[in-house]
Amino acid sequence: MRIAFWGVRGYVPTPGADYLRYGGNTCCIALHGTNGELLALDSGTGFCQFGDHLMRGDFGQGRGQLTLLISHTYWDHILGLPFPGVVHVPGNQLRIYGPDSTRGSLEMVYDGILSPVYSPVYGLAHIGATHNFVPITTEPVQVGSLTIRAMPLSQRLNSPIWAYRIEEGERALVYITDVRYSNDIIWRKAVGFAKHANLLIHSAPYTRQEHVQDYGHSRVEDAIELALESKVERLYLFHHAPTRTDAQLDQLLVHYGAELNAHGHTLILDAAREGVQVEV
Ligand SMILES: [Zn+2]
Repeated sequence: MRIAFWGVRGYVPTPGADYLRYGGNTCCIALHGTNGELLALDSGTGFCQFGDHLMRGDFGQGRGQLTLLISHTYWDHILGLPFPGVVHVPGNQLRIYGPDSTRGSLEMVYDGILSPVYSPVYGLAHIGATHNFVPITTEPVQVGSLTIRAMPLSQRLNSPIWAYRIEEGERALVYITDVRYSNDIIWRKAVGFAKHANLLIHSAPYTRQEHVQDYGHSRVEDAIELALESKVERLYLFHHAPTRTDAQLDQLLVHYGAELNAHGHTLILDAAREGVQVEV
């Protein structure tokens, strides 16, 4: 399987000359299975360009099928869905997995962001593509040769956060974002979930030295420690802070890469960048 990063920024979209190389769109990652399966992790603003890209193929003809996996419903993970043409072409099929919350179902949340107060789409009923919302559970979901596993990693009832693990044969990708490891139970769950993954994508907007309002996020060091303890092959830092420039991300990789080398770790450390594709 292969992934493509379409949006790697957290919190809010971040345009500007200092952010061009890593990109300013919020969270969206495409996953292409070996047999043509198509998944996307989250539908932040990166979903707009991803969706437009899909229009060149089957989706432009109303013959596309996409499975969306939503981690949680904060703006930076959902806002791109209504905009690209791909969701407005009749015949296209969207199956959207994600958590319901005490404030309402996933479908209600998406319908809410399309209300006339916020958008000219006027609600999900006006989207042309067939769309089905499915509450995510810990039961595995099969899409072709891909096995999708999901795990709740937050007790935040008004917007629960789920992590995803996608497996194809012996290969595994794990996606964990927006999680705070506030106790050992959550940490142990995450370590077990990411165990021996070939690739881990983990939010890492700030380092432990930075005293900022992080809105409940784990830090760069948490992501690295989790990858090491889970014996992951490769870690992509993700959900970059809006204030994090390209040059600063380069420096982070050099600094933490040198630390890993100094301690003899073989973990490959990288930072997610829009437009980059990776074989898992
Ligand atoms: Zn986020």
